[in-house]
Amino acid sequence: MSLNIRQLKQSQEDFLKIRCKKCLMPNFIAKWKDSEGNTCEYCNPDEERSIEFPEDMSNDNGDMSVEDLLKLIRSHKKGPYDCMVSITGGRDSSYVLYYAKEVLKLNPLAFNFHTGFVSDIAQENMINVTGTLGVDFIQFRIGGQFLKKLSRGFLINNGEVCSVCHQGHFYTVQKIAQWTGLKVLLRGLCKKTEQNFLVPDYFNWYSMDDDDFNARVNAFAESEKITERELEIHDDFMHMRDWTDKEVMKIDLPDMIDYRQDEITRVLTKLNWKYNNEFIHLDCMFNPILICAQRYAEGYSEKQFIISNLVIDEIGAEAGKKLLHAEENIGFDDLPGLNNFLQTIGVDLQTFEKAIQNNWQVRESSPVKEAQKTSRVLLN
Ligand SMILES: [Zn+2]
Repeated sequence: MSLNIRQLKQSQEDFLKIRCKKCLMPNFIAKWKDSEGNTCEYCNPDEERSIEFPEDMSNDNGDMSVEDLLKLIRSHKKGPYDCMVSITGGRDSSYVLYYAKEVLKLNPLAFNFHTGFVSDIAQENMINVTGTLGVDFIQFRIGGQFLKKLSRGFLINNGEVCSVCHQGHFYTVQKIAQWTGLKVLLRGLCKKTEQNFLVPDYFNWYSMDDDDFNARVNAFAESEKITERELEIHDDFMHMRDWTDKEVMKIDLPDMIDYRQDEITRVLTKLNWKYNNEFIHLDCMFNPILICAQRYAEGYSEKQFIISNLVIDEIGAEAGKKLLHAEENIGFDDLPGLNNFLQTIGVDLQTFEKAIQNNWQVRESSPVKEAQKTSRVLLN
């Protein structure tokens, strides 16, 4: 493969030359606070950072307590279910479902939008976890050919398929909310592990609302042979995201409870939840590819933030170093699921390479890139 992404491949001894000793953040992302790099502006900020997810991942938690949440759920209760829980088969949403059922004693309705590239292990986990907990589970699918055309179009033209997945998620929430009258959605998003404090635009490459999504689809509708008829049939899919954003309250439970990896692992083992031996994000066949693409463009991926947050708080620098080494030495060539994913959405390897080059090329003007040029010197 012609895509070289090992831009930052580091030997063990070079590792700390560019990294904060306390949180392992590279100094091209967060400046050191002393010449030795004992601490940096990430783990030791001058002022408290405001914590905001990108617009489409924003939540309605505010400073709500668990008691407030239970009151809210009771006041909106209709029919047999108390609330919706979106699950993916991944760690966080599986734990949130457990917490809602067993700790908060709610009767949640679990759901998932099937993108066509849900990993086998994620599918198995969703079945096992809902089955073990005795929670009703709805999995949504839409016309396979239409979904495949959308995914292909997004991968080739935008270098991602996340926009399709997000649109499907909002569409599914809308359908379930209308059928059941439920207005409260619990999610497994977690600011503590996932938040990127320093590069606010980092995640905002996917489509952010209905207009944006439709504009992007229109741009490739002809080349992907998407017909007027298909768009008409799937009109709800194309246009229900803004409704959901406005009408359904999105609550990120991990932000409100004591949320520790060791406790999560203990609980998930009891629920027959399986681990794929990769660090995080086993729920989607595209995710490992996305991580590579991010590193190809910027020299780091969103996992950097997840790992640094865990290092500060829970696992310590030695464990963090191992995770980062494993993560940063994987290239596109090493991804066992790449061919399988490309076959699923009908894209050949050459087209894929072009899509990555076109959409994830390093922006020479980016502030991260500028800083990266200077810090590279440390590696020599
Ligand atoms: Zn630091």
